[in-house]
Amino acid sequence: MNVARKPFVRPQELSRDGRLTSFLVYLEAVTVVFDGFKALDIDLFGVYHNELRVVIGPNGAGKTTMCDVISGKTRLTQGKLFWHGNDIGTVHDIAMSRMGVGRKFQTPSVFDSLTVFENLELAIPNRQRDLLRNLWGKTTADEEAKIRQLMDRVNLTKQSDLQARFLSHGQRQCLEISMLVLAEPDLLLVDEPAAGLSDEETALMADLLLELRGQHAIVVIEHDMDFVRRLDAGVTVLNEGKIMAEGYMEEIQANPEVVEAYLGR
Ligand code: ADP
Ligand code: MG
Repeated sequence: MNVARKPFVRPQELSRDGRLTSFLVYLEAVTVVFDGFKALDIDLFGVYHNELRVVIGPNGAGKTTMCDVISGKTRLTQGKLFWHGNDIGTVHDIAMSRMGVGRKFQTPSVFDSLTVFENLELAIPNRQRDLLRNLWGKTTADEEAKIRQLMDRVNLTKQSDLQARFLSHGQRQCLEISMLVLAEPDLLLVDEPAAGLSDEETALMADLLLELRGQHAIVVIEHDMDFVRRLDAGVTVLNEGKIMAEGYMEEIQANPEVVEAYLGR
């Protein structure tokens, strides 16, 4: 994969106009303060259209807070958040999800008593709101084909008619990501998807994210360094709310500050 890899371009290397056009989401001079404690202090941060980006850093570094800011769950204390080049600093999270941000939280939230297929049916956009269609339970042939194709990609075809309660932790995580994917979000935020997974499930999760790469921008927060290496993506290192380094894993690993603060422990 190294063959096709482009150099990692940091936001500092672009003009402001360049940032606004190149980045799907872009933070400028952003702080988030909780009761006087500065949880986030970001100079510049941008995620390119359809980029896969990994965010690493020690516990309490501000990784989840950064996702909360991007998804609109947490308000900025100061600064600007740009989405598709537009300043949307004060948009509510429901609005953000309508605008194309899919958020995967640390614990899976699937419907236990529904089958894998039914969970995916419900995840089709507008399905929950479209009461009449929902009552009649009509999924079009196109929608069914889309669901079957997706189940195939995430290795859940055999579990199609199984209630979600019987899935393994890893399968649930894959199901939940699939549910988000059905809404075709511009950006997927995935917080620690490998937490609690077996080695085999971790590898499958990495494959799933690699498979989705290029179709959505994806921001993955992760601790597991083997997993991060497997993704072969641009990495942002957060430490004490600030961006400490950005680049591909080789550069990050060679950065003495990062090794000292995080990797070396
Ligand atoms: P990470 O995900 O990197 O482990 P977080 O973003 O969850 O870190 O937290 C960053 C810091 O902000 C931590 O010190 C945490 O205690 C604090 N924090 C996060 N959310 C809140 C909140 N809602 N209220 C107060 N402090 C918070
Ligand atoms: Mg976190």
